[in-house]
Amino acid sequence: MNVVVLLGAPGAGKGTQAPLLAACLGIPVVATGDLFRAAVRDGTPLGLEARRFMDAGRLVPDEITVQLLLERLARPDADAGVILDGFPRTAVQAAALDVALTERGAKVCAAVLVDVPGEELVRRMSGRWICRANGHPYHEALSQPRTAGICDLDGSELYQRADDQPDTIRARMDQQLGALREVIDHYRAAGSLRTVDGLQPIVAVASAINEQLAAAGICGAAAPGSAAEA
Ligand code: ADP
Ligand code: ADP
Repeated sequence: MNVVVLLGAPGAGKGTQAPLLAACLGIPVVATGDLFRAAVRDGTPLGLEARRFMDAGRLVPDEITVQLLLERLARPDADAGVILDGFPRTAVQAAALDVALTERGAKVCAAVLVDVPGEELVRRMSGRWICRANGHPYHEALSQPRTAGICDLDGSELYQRADDQPDTIRARMDQQLGALREVIDHYRAAGSLRTVDGLQPIVAVASAINEQLAAAGICGAAAPGSAAEA
C-alpha cells in the first residue's frame, strides 16, 4: 500500500499536484478539504459542523476530521494506496494516521512538503478558482483553464471558494501554519520527510515530487531525470 502525504501551507499547490501524482502512481487522491466541501454542499450534520470552522479559516476538530478520513480509507479503491492532500494537518492527526496504517501493516511511504513562502501563498489563494465536480484548482493569472470558467480535466464549472477571501486567507495563515510545523516535525522525526521548492512552475514542481518519490523507492514514480510532464 503506497501512502503518500502531500504537505504544504494553504495555497502551496497540493491540490494542483495531487491529480498529476495520482495519474502517475495509479492511486486515488483523498483531500479532506474536498470531503468537507462535499459534506457542506450535501448539508450533512458533519458538513454543518465543519462549515463553522472552515468559514472562520480554522481547522476542523481532530475527532471529526480523523473519522472522516478513516471512513474514506476504508473504501476499496484505497486498498492499493492513496495520495493524502490536506491530511494530516495536526500532530494528533498524524499520530492517528500512523495507528490506522500500522493496523493494516502499512505506513506513510513519503511525506512531501511543497514549500512556498507566505506572500506567494496569499497571491495564489486570492486568484484561485476550483471546479465543482472534483475541486481541481486553477488561477486567474498563474494557471488558467483552456476554456474560461470550465475545468480542463472534467468539464465542470469553476467557482471561487468562500474561504478564499482576504480576511479568511489571513486567518488560515495565522491559525494553520503552527500546526503544519508540528506535522513537518512528525515526518522529519520518522525519516520520511522530503521537501520540494514549490515556487517553481507547476510542471517543474511535479517533476521534483516525482524525483523525490523515486528516490524514496515509491513504485510508479518516474526515475530521477525523466520528465514527469511528458
Ligand atoms: P487549502 O487548499 O487552502 O489548503 P483545503 O481545501 O485543504 O484548504 O481545506 C479547506 C478547509 O477545510 C481548511 O481551512 C479547514 O477548515 C478544513 N480542513 C481540511 N482538511 C483539514 C484537516 N486535515 N484538519 C482540519 N481541518 C481541515
Ligand atoms: P493547496 O491545495 O495547497 O491549497 P492549490 O493547488 O489549490 O493549493 O493552489 C493554490 C493556487 O495556486 C491555485 O490557484 C493554483 O492554480 C495556483 N498554483 C498552484 N501551483 C502553482 C505553481 N507552481 N505556480 C503558480 N501557481 C500555482
